[in-house]
Amino acid sequence: MSDINVRKVHLSNERLEGYEGHGFLATTLDRAVGMARKNSLWPLPFATSCCGIEFMATMASHYDFGRFGAERLSFSPRQADMLMVMGTIAKKMGPVLRQVYEQMAEPRWVLSVGACASSGGIFDTYSVLQGIDRIIPVDVYVPGCPPRPEMILDGVMKIQELAQNESLRRRNSAEYAELLASYGIK
Ligand code: SF4
Repeated sequence: MSDINVRKVHLSNERLEGYEGHGFLATTLDRAVGMARKNSLWPLPFATSCCGIEFMATMASHYDFGRFGAERLSFSPRQADMLMVMGTIAKKMGPVLRQVYEQMAEPRWVLSVGACASSGGIFDTYSVLQGIDRIIPVDVYVPGCPPRPEMILDGVMKIQELAQNESLRRRNSAEYAELLASYGIK
């Protein structure tokens, strides 16, 4: 019973801005869709090494990824909208990561978790990609080697903010097309 009360409080904090009266709420489509997107992110975990272990802890009961409505992991890019890259990405793995990104439907967001994914980390070598933003656009970076689960959750919440506040027109805009074109993505 107490769980239900907590959930009610949580939902009341999420109320949409708009005009409301007895039995009705008038708001904008952007706000309604943004709220739905924010609370239904489906992650695709692209974990290659130790940062992936931190993600496993993030998924477990102590940190409870399910509180974001994001406990349903997708290993199919077409049914995912938040790509979480966790671990060292070798240059040989780059084309695979890029293909996964390209197969995701819009709107899609990318979270770069940890020093290796964000910058190559300690592996300043010929074989390691020095940051995934060399091949795909990144929305949020999580620092650390490894980042604690709390930091991963903080990164996810930043993605939630982006998802909630993004204009419905952004993905069809010339600026967005230009961003993708700068990565050679159509
Ligand atoms: S950032 Fe550190 S913990 Fe994460 S994959 Fe690289 S070496 Fe491992």
